[in-house]
Amino acid sequence: MKCAIISVGTELLMGQIVDTNAVFLSRELNTLGYDVLYRYTVGDNDGRLEQILELALNDCDMVLTTGGLGPTEDDMTKETVARFMDDVLVEYLPAKEWLLKAKERRGKTFTDNNFKQILLPSKSTVFPTQVGTAPGFCCEKDGKYVICMPGPPREMTDMFKRRIRPFLESMQDNVIYYRTLRIFGKGESLVETELLDLIDAQTDPTIATYAKMCECSVRVASKRPTLEEAANAVVDMCGKIKEILGDCVYSDEDEDLAEVVGRKLIAAGTTISCAESCTGGMFASRLTDVPGISEVFERGIVTYTERAKMEELGVTRSVLEQETAVSPTVALQMAEGLAAKTGSDICISVTGVAGPSGGTGEHPVGQYFCGCTYKGKTIVKKVETHHHERDFNRYHAVLTMFDMINRLLEGMEIRSGKDIWGNQ
Ligand code: AMP
Ligand code: MG
Repeated sequence: MKCAIISVGTELLMGQIVDTNAVFLSRELNTLGYDVLYRYTVGDNDGRLEQILELALNDCDMVLTTGGLGPTEDDMTKETVARFMDDVLVEYLPAKEWLLKAKERRGKTFTDNNFKQILLPSKSTVFPTQVGTAPGFCCEKDGKYVICMPGPPREMTDMFKRRIRPFLESMQDNVIYYRTLRIFGKGESLVETELLDLIDAQTDPTIATYAKMCECSVRVASKRPTLEEAANAVVDMCGKIKEILGDCVYSDEDEDLAEVVGRKLIAAGTTISCAESCTGGMFASRLTDVPGISEVFERGIVTYTERAKMEELGVTRSVLEQETAVSPTVALQMAEGLAAKTGSDICISVTGVAGPSGGTGEHPVGQYFCGCTYKGKTIVKKVETHHHERDFNRYHAVLTMFDMINRLLEGMEIRSGKDIWGNQ
């Protein structure tokens, strides 16, 4: 079923609030197998809302609105929708009783404008509210539907989950199933190029690539009469995609790399410590997002200065002088110094130039080295991102650290022709 979302509220157009309702509804509707073709935002104005309803229902079978169901003068969604659907507003008695009781409980009087909230289109299906005071409803005319929900996100999401989702599910012939593959080490354009044959031939499942910060994802979705059919089609397609993209696919359940690695470390009981320079503790922070990581995470040290690298990790002055702090030998000494100090199974280090300034010809912005000591061996990986944004470079380095650990744990090859091996 094709649908559109209309967010009603002048405050949205003024930029005073962010339209979180539309994002929530887009996600939910897509998951339910509804195709969201348009999203509109319109102020509290009945003429313009009517125009948008007309426009949206030209192409779509269903429109979902949020906002404008409240008791005040500017709330006019109900009146406009009723008129547009050739219906009239009538008193909805269960809502009146409920409202009177609620008011009584709170010791408030029943003002005239509250009365507005118990008026609903006479032919509508009503969705009672459990959070606020404004009920939602669905009107139908000539096989087209308009569903109206309150604006406050708490009220809207509660009503959606409790009342509207089951209603929408009952109207669907097909169910949708999807998985999201997460990829690190290949950019979106390369991923798309490699998958071009599959993408060009796609009908169902559909394949869509998305770029994310420093990584990308591929969403595989199928819409079939049963969940089993849809799931089988998706799993099958994911298998084909993974075969093409290879081991840079690290999750087929939309998990973060930190989550994937953290879980593996915990499951294997592999202990870990980290020594960070340019990432300033970001790696440790991401790692500690994983519940239960205290079982295996021994310590994280931020060694930003040369002195800290020497004092905490035993990096040698001569190497710092000869090769500078951003060098493979320093990354190696950081990892090995950490291993000597902690005895953790995995000791990972990073040193680099985060930018935006501070780069040199030999050590450009975006160059960093990650060292990793594991099972008596230390591997150092050199990366040059060719990016100048500090956030990008630091986050990229953190992902590379997690990627290296993932690969070591899985016995996979560490990519890059520039790897340098050292020994403890
Ligand atoms: P209304 O039902 O139009 O009176 O909206 C009541 C309140 O809900 C507004 O003042 C906003 O704080 C919030 N709200 C309305 N629409 C949205 C939306 N699309 N996204 C997020 N919050 C909203
Ligand atoms: Mg409003």
